[in-house]
Parts: sequence; C-alpha cells; structure tokens
Amino acid sequence: MDAFISGCCKGERCFCGEPAARKVEEVIFDDDPIQHRHPLTRYVCAGHFAQIMGPAGARSVGQEDTVEIVTGDPRFPMVCNETAELIEVAVERLGLDVGVAVCLVAQVAADYARSEYGNAYLVKLAGVVTARGSMPLPEAVPASDGEG
Ligand SMILES: [Zn+2]
Repeated sequence: MDAFISGCCKGERCFCGEPAARKVEEVIFDDDPIQHRHPLTRYVCAGHFAQIMGPAGARSVGQEDTVEIVTGDPRFPMVCNETAELIEVAVERLGLDVGVAVCLVAQVAADYARSEYGNAYLVKLAGVVTARGSMPLPEAVPASDGEG
C-alpha cells in the first residue's frame, strides 16, 4: 500500500535519521500552566509514527504488514517454541539472567534482520516488539524431549 506523505514532510528527517512521514504536535490542555507556549512538534518516520499511534496510525503510513506477518504466519508457534527453548538453555545451563538472555537473542535477531534489510528495518522491528504489549502472552508448551 502506498501511504500518503505530505509534501511538507519532504526533506525533513525523523530523530532516527529516516525520512519523515508525518509531523506530530503536542496538545496544550486547558490546565497547562503556560497557556501561550507553542506546542512541541516533531517530524517522525513511518515506523516511529506507527509506534506512537498504534494500529490505525500504522495503517495510515503503510506499516501494518510486519505485524500481520508475525501474527498470521502458521510457523510462528514453532519458531516461538524453538526460540523460547534457546532462552531457557541460556538461563538454566549458562546461568544468564532472563533479561540478559532475552537482550542477547534480540540483538542477534536485530543484526540478522539489518544484514538482510538495512538499518531502516530496525524501526519496523521495534514496532513489532512493542506491538506485543497489546497481545496476550502465549501459553508455555512443555518441551517433549523424549525423556519422559
Ligand atoms: Zn524514526
């Protein structure tokens, strides 16, 4: 889908360096102590716009596809279980903190993705990660390792 990008965004950059897709502006509420101040504004890329605006914002800038791929792919549970087992190994056998193990896996995934698609993909990947916050946690499936 080709998203509409205003001519006003041409030549502008997001804080991440990507070309701007939208400009966002702070609302000055009635109880703000400084009523006459200019609201803060910022040009943002499509990925960061999608992150702060959620699914409707993502659709408006053509950023919905990555989340759909993640949630709709029938191989997702298999990849999910394999990755969870990898994290369990790092925690139980190597003695890593869960947070450290997860960060290591995330870094490997990020490096793998950017070697394939470039640094701009990292914004999309961040959108996928943060979108997980609005989804139910998957149920843990006990590993069948043949020892039972
Ligand atoms: Zn950005």
